[in-house]
Amino acid sequence: MVDLSQVPFVDGHMHPPLRVRPQTVEEYRWPWFEGLPSESAHVAELVPYRWAIRQIADELGCAADERAVVRATRELDPMTWLATVCERSQTVALVLDTGYPPPDESLPLDQIRAAGVELAPLLRLEAMAGDLIAEGLGFADLIERYDAAVDGARAAGYAGLKSIAAYRSGLAIRRWSADEAAEALARQRAAGITRVQEQALVDFLLLRALPVARRDGLPVQLHAGYGDRDLDLRLVNPLHLRGMLASEEAAGVHFVVLHAAWPYVREGAFLTAVYANVTLDVAACIPPLGHAALLEAWRCALAVGAVNRLHASSDAAGLPEQIALGARRARSTLGQVLGELVASGELSAGEAERDGEAILSGNSRRLYFGER
Ligand SMILES: [Zn+2]
Repeated sequence: MVDLSQVPFVDGHMHPPLRVRPQTVEEYRWPWFEGLPSESAHVAELVPYRWAIRQIADELGCAADERAVVRATRELDPMTWLATVCERSQTVALVLDTGYPPPDESLPLDQIRAAGVELAPLLRLEAMAGDLIAEGLGFADLIERYDAAVDGARAAGYAGLKSIAAYRSGLAIRRWSADEAAEALARQRAAGITRVQEQALVDFLLLRALPVARRDGLPVQLHAGYGDRDLDLRLVNPLHLRGMLASEEAAGVHFVVLHAAWPYVREGAFLTAVYANVTLDVAACIPPLGHAALLEAWRCALAVGAVNRLHASSDAAGLPEQIALGARRARSTLGQVLGELVASGELSAGEAERDGEAILSGNSRRLYFGER
């Protein structure tokens, strides 16, 4: 086991804490669950959730059940609680997807920053475009406003872009004409859909943002693998990215495949091995993957992938305690797998320590915080 307990954690992918803490067990379960909201009681049957409840109860000194945890956390001030968990878990920086939860439910960025952590906010392309569609803009105006927002992302303080194409039409992103994208928008409009939904529109918007990502050095995070029921898991294998990765638009753009692309972790690791512009993130709290699945993810990532392009995250979905649990689980599972590589003679002890630091901190610092 390589001891990573003293290595600061840069959370490579997470979402802002909720402004208001969950008040009931039902509300509390939702940020842990990827199924239907109406079925979130099922999360209590998932081992990673049960583990999480016990860890949180331990930390809070309450009984190890959901009711006690909710009672002990529902009055917490989100900003103070965020500061506490980040300090205790040595989480020093957050790479934040601002597209979920909705801004009016999320803790504002200045309050997150006031918790004493560095922030790298990402602009979620589909959320921004969806807001524009909801304004009722025609296609030409939509594109003009979309381009302006992407163009100004760096100046507006964003450290990268995020796409959830995986949730809509999958990762086989390809080129569509402006006419096809306009027709897709018209069809959506006729059906009363204001989010970016149809593949022609999803792909058109994403590809359009890539030249700016290259110009401004904005990494592009892509949801891949395990996520909520909106997605078709068959279409979110990152091997589908081949077309886009080979496109002119993608040249010189750095992509980050999220959530270990689980269960396609092999494919994700392969991409980092053969594409110098792909990083694989391993999320250690959400989606709910337990110890064995995370060991498998790190084993595969480190047996196949590029160590300078792996990073760790919590994918916290509104609860600061998820950040701390992600940090803990990332340190323990990564530490164990690095230890195995030392034991098998594949890495020296010194290399394993340096790689552990890079994966927990350094690689994200370089990518989102401009550090060398
Ligand atoms: Zn996420």
